[in-house]
Amino acid sequence: MVEYSSEVIEKLLKGELPISEIQKMQMEPKDPDRFDKYIKALKQHVDWDDEILMRIHEHLYIIKKENNYVVKCSCGHEFGDYRENWKLKALIFVRDRNELEELYPEPLTPEWSELREFYCPNCATLLWTEALIPGYPINFDFLPDIKAFFQEWLNKTLENVPEFKDLSSEVTESWAKNE
Ligand SMILES: [Zn+2]
Repeated sequence: MVEYSSEVIEKLLKGELPISEIQKMQMEPKDPDRFDKYIKALKQHVDWDDEILMRIHEHLYIIKKENNYVVKCSCGHEFGDYRENWKLKALIFVRDRNELEELYPEPLTPEWSELREFYCPNCATLLWTEALIPGYPINFDFLPDIKAFFQEWLNKTLENVPEFKDLSSEVTESWAKNE
C-alpha cells in the first residue's frame, strides 16, 4: 500500500497529476483513510468551516450543517437541501443553436440542441454545462445515497441523514404555487 503526500493529493484535486500517475494510483491497493485525506485537502480550498461530506465538482460541495445536508459553493453560497437539484436555484444562460456555432463547428450542433450554462448567483462562477434538447427537463446529475456511502463504503455512521429521495419536483411545484 502506498501513502500519498498532501502535495500529490492537492495536484490530483487540481487536475495537475499526469495521467500515468493517476492510472498507477488506480491500480494500487488503497489506503484505508484515503477519504479523510481527500476531505482534509478539500478544506484547504474553502474559507468556511462547515463539515464537507463530499465534493460534487470543483466548486460545489455537499456539507452537513446542523441536521441539514446542503449543497454549498466554494464562495459560501448555499443552494439548499442536496436532494433538490441545485441547478434549479442557479443562474441559467441558454445558448441556442446559433450561439452554439460560435463554440462548436458543424456538424456538432444539430438543430435540436441547446447548451445550458449554470452560474452561482453569488460569485458568478460557471458551475456546470449541459447540452440537451430544447424543452428537456434540467438534468439532476448527482444525487448520492449519502447514508449508504458512509455506512457501506467508509464504515462510518452519519446522524440524522434525511430520506434518500429526489425532492426537485417539490421545488418546481412551489414555483407553480408561487411560494
Ligand atoms: Zn459561488
